[in-house]
Amino acid sequence: MKTGIKYVYGPVPSRRLGSSLGVNLTPFKTCSYSCVYCQLGITTCKIAERRSFFPREEVLKEIERALESVRANYVTFAGEGEPTLSLDLGWLIEKVRKFISLRDLNSKIAVITNSSLLWRKDVREELANTDSCLPSLDAISDSVFRRINRPHRSIKIEKVVEGILEFGDDYDGELMVEVMLVKGYNDSRKELEAIASVLSELKPDRVHVLTPTRPPALNVEPADAKTIMLSVEIFEENGVNSSAINFPECGEFDFSVFSNVKEAIKIMSRHPMREEQLEKLSKHFGLSIEELKSIPGIVEKKFCGRKYYLYVP
Ligand code: SF4
Repeated sequence: MKTGIKYVYGPVPSRRLGSSLGVNLTPFKTCSYSCVYCQLGITTCKIAERRSFFPREEVLKEIERALESVRANYVTFAGEGEPTLSLDLGWLIEKVRKFISLRDLNSKIAVITNSSLLWRKDVREELANTDSCLPSLDAISDSVFRRINRPHRSIKIEKVVEGILEFGDDYDGELMVEVMLVKGYNDSRKELEAIASVLSELKPDRVHVLTPTRPPALNVEPADAKTIMLSVEIFEENGVNSSAINFPECGEFDFSVFSNVKEAIKIMSRHPMREEQLEKLSKHFGLSIEELKSIPGIVEKKFCGRKYYLYVP
């Protein structure tokens, strides 16, 4: 487990899933969107077609080895881009499910998706085999969608909405929709009511209203607390079970799966760390925090009055 970790990271603390063993299925910042709030930065490879990016057997081996050595509530396909762009997603979900059952483990399987490919039958069928699915829906009107999610030119919001509704119709797992609110982008009453109306048709198990809590790709601001509460109110009025998650995750990162600091800092390209988390990381590898900060690629960013540390590969 402790050598050459490329595709698996964590377990990382997740505000929605508890401890989550992340699996990355795309090269850094390969996505169908380039959201203004993305904590990974601007999308460098914007595509809408599915591809096979990595040798799937290698990815599977890494997941299996990780599951043998750490405990995680979830194996979560998310990572450094949009996981449904990977043609290997369905195969991997199936194999991981078999492994979990063979070893009698308690981990569940989740996918975090931006919903852009849910109009595709193959994607819906693959996601049907998960325990939890977390699709996002930040906008309904075309102009707001283009402004906040900045999708690949071939992706239309009507198709995204159609796909998410179709997926919701048949999905037996736990459906938790994420709505990310950004000040001045999608926080108008009109947009919130439009989102609420789609959500009331979708009937997810839960909707999580989020706002950026870690440094975003562009210089945008989180929605204010009043607007977040208003959105929860509007969603609830439409019969949608919702809650606000506008605080940073508070669990611990598990560094025990990493044999060296170079592998561990890769977590920070997906999960910027706060000062106290960085301190724990440095102690784990017997370094001073200053030595850690001087590693090339580690950059400091301020957001909402707090310091965060990112790793830019
Ligand atoms: S937030 Fe997610 S969907 Fe948006 S650009 Fe980043 S990786 Fe892609």
